[in-house]
Amino acid sequence: MVFEGLAEKLQNTFKKLKGKGKLTEQDVSEAMREVKLALLEADVNFKVVKDFVKKVKDRSVGVEVLESLTPGQQVIKIVNEELTELMGQTQSKLTFASKPPTIIMLVGLQGAGKTTTCGKLSGLLKKQGKRPLLIAGDIYRPAAIKQLQVVGGQVDVPVFTMGDKLSPVDIVRAGVEHGVNHGNDVIIIDTAGRLHINEELMEELQDVKSTVKPHEILLVIDSMTGQDAVNVAEEFNGKLGIDGVILTKLDGDTRGGAALSVRSVTHKPIKFVGLGEKLDDLEPFHPDRMASRILG
Ligand code: GDP
Repeated sequence: MVFEGLAEKLQNTFKKLKGKGKLTEQDVSEAMREVKLALLEADVNFKVVKDFVKKVKDRSVGVEVLESLTPGQQVIKIVNEELTELMGQTQSKLTFASKPPTIIMLVGLQGAGKTTTCGKLSGLLKKQGKRPLLIAGDIYRPAAIKQLQVVGGQVDVPVFTMGDKLSPVDIVRAGVEHGVNHGNDVIIIDTAGRLHINEELMEELQDVKSTVKPHEILLVIDSMTGQDAVNVAEEFNGKLGIDGVILTKLDGDTRGGAALSVRSVTHKPIKFVGLGEKLDDLEPFHPDRMASRILG
């Protein structure tokens, strides 16, 4: 499970701190050195680690903390607060249109989990009483359309497709019209991915964006790819503009760096996390719960 290594290292460091009773600035510095190494080993972005450790240290070496009755506890509390802050403080919810339908565009590289997440997200919204429609806008990856139809079928959400002969812009335009005519209040568009970011992909996504004016563009990234996922997020945000991130495969053997870095690097929140291959393995992301899980 994500953060296992990081959690173990941080918990060891803090056990030592708590065991000391009174703390000196030196003790805090030593602990922060360990925190820094643990975060770097978890594949957290270097600059993010540097800023984080500095903030925690600045807050921890004050008289109030060091002279308190439980300085170790105080430092842990500060780390918890700063970890939560790093991941976005509070849960970041979906924006729904004041006048339905709400249009959500899912974007991302091939293999990140976009199509699966379309199914998961539509299933989640359906459980909340919405009437979602999925649009199959990935006309390049063989079997992407079929795959979307399968996941749509599994969560009992209709899938709009026009095959792979028309342009994505034409398909999504017709799909949104279909959704409006059929009373769908949330429309989720599965877009094309590529193995790498390229101009063609971005242009196509920009065209789709300007055609349907989505209320949410959510980038699906694979947490297993660590810093690469964060670079991808930075690029999509710069070129297309995103409203949030869905981080997949947190159930796997990931060190967790992407979860801790992406918000700080892109200034965009993680809205959901994927926790498995099954279609109900999608959860809203809660920064405070994640921080507490890391600190045990
Ligand atoms: P796309 O190319 O971005 O549309 O990716 P897919 O939706 O086809 O997913 C690629 C692979 O990742 C599939 O085998 C999915 O089952 C798997 N996958 C997607 N999300 C998760 C997740 O949260 N956890 C795990 N373990 N696997 C996932």
